[in-house]
Amino acid sequence: MSVPEDWEIVIGLEVHCELATTTKLFCGCPNLFGDEPNTNVCPVCLGLPGSLPVLNEKAVELALRLGQALHCAAKRGVFARKNYFYPDMPKDYQVSQYDMPTNVDGYLDLPDGARIGIERAHIEEDTGKNTHVGGGGRIHGAEYSLVDYNRAGIPLVEIVSRPDLRSADDARDCVNELRAILLATRVSDAKMEEGSMRVDANVSVRKRGDELGTRCEIKNLNSVRSLGRAIEYEASRQVDLITSGERVRQETRHWDEEAGRTRPGRSKEQAEDYRYFPEPDLVPLEPEADLVDHIVATMPALPNDRRQRLADAAGVTPNTSGVVVAVARGLDDLAFAAISERGDPARVLTHVEHNLAVDGADAVEPISLAKLTQLEVSGALTATQAKTVLAELVEHGGDPEAIANAKGFEEMDTSALDATVDEVIAAYADVWTKYVAGDDKAVQFLTGQVMRSTSGKADGKAVMAIFQERRRTSAH
Ligand code: ADP
Ligand code: ZN
Ligand code: MG
Repeated sequence: MSVPEDWEIVIGLEVHCELATTTKLFCGCPNLFGDEPNTNVCPVCLGLPGSLPVLNEKAVELALRLGQALHCAAKRGVFARKNYFYPDMPKDYQVSQYDMPTNVDGYLDLPDGARIGIERAHIEEDTGKNTHVGGGGRIHGAEYSLVDYNRAGIPLVEIVSRPDLRSADDARDCVNELRAILLATRVSDAKMEEGSMRVDANVSVRKRGDELGTRCEIKNLNSVRSLGRAIEYEASRQVDLITSGERVRQETRHWDEEAGRTRPGRSKEQAEDYRYFPEPDLVPLEPEADLVDHIVATMPALPNDRRQRLADAAGVTPNTSGVVVAVARGLDDLAFAAISERGDPARVLTHVEHNLAVDGADAVEPISLAKLTQLEVSGALTATQAKTVLAELVEHGGDPEAIANAKGFEEMDTSALDATVDEVIAAYADVWTKYVAGDDKAVQFLTGQVMRSTSGKADGKAVMAIFQERRRTSAH
């Protein structure tokens, strides 16, 4: 599902990510997920009268590091109070950088080369978390609501992209790239499922070449998959509205994963509704040149550079899916080292992309992965067998060749294979005759029989090739 050819989708993302500090933004409470509710709280993050905030230096450093990774300028930042009443916010205001954010005017490059503008990446504090019980988890119709202030005051950076994205795929790539950057810089653990990375998507549509259309902001996107589905749904909803002569109303909408649709939320507040004013208890944040220089000098390799390095080693382009996935999952060091140990590049990338989960990959030595692919290249292991050996390497480590032997994956010599093929042809002469007569599908049955009598040791492709060759010669 998407919009008609002459229409264009326009998307800008607002991404909140929790910074990987040990304590909250303005107090010493621990920054931890999943603790007993309301145990990580104090007078400051509960907004009790007379308490005063103290800015967390580490949070500032992480925010600046992210800003530099996104090629932003580091500016004088001013904290403001954003006033609104909601039970998840004990102070009744949220401290956030408003018109003077720390990081401005940056960009990130997607793996396919598209450059996405970053308007700002500002520092703010998180709110608490409401849980509405009964009524399907929504506030309307709930029997009662619970509130957990453990999250209140956790440091966040909100990254606001320019409306430069043009498809659901672009948006997914952008979120994946942001996550890869957050992980590479160790700014956040960026777990969408735990809410430490939360994405809102602003979506509008227009006829190609027209001015920007009116946007809706979609909230409640808990995965990259939901993000893509929500954008496609929302874009076609807007096209339908406009083509039937109606207007798109600017509003906040919520994605309903089960129903597969967006629903209207509140109509969007204007900035003046929040009565922003500078936070009187905090001084402006002046990023010192020395600190910024130090951050730039100690910046870990970013996803773009890592893709380039792995791609060069593998002799492919940086946009190759195995390379993109390896870097996104942080498995590129392993892949790079395995290729440097003379592993077969294509097979190394295949294993990293398809056969290796992030958990457990640590146990795999680059040299073992390299050897594994060499065994495949030499024909000693089939792709399926290699997968089994790799699973064993993840579980217990060890030497690929020894594991292969222990599993009885010793190399089949071709003469043995020829003999088995002879036996199968004799045993299933009728199927063989059909195959020779041109029934191509019959080869699958015959191959299956060979695989069975070799207990899966033979390479299916090689067996099929033998049958094809036999048919070719027997036809003459
Ligand atoms: P607000 O001040 O209401 O939050 P912003 O101008 O800060 O609005 O933009 C918020 C987000 O909306 C940004 O990510 C921006 O790229 C995106 N955006 C702005 N205009 C459009 C549009 N016409 N279509 C899609 N996204 C848009
Ligand atoms: Zn606290
Ligand atoms: Mg905004």
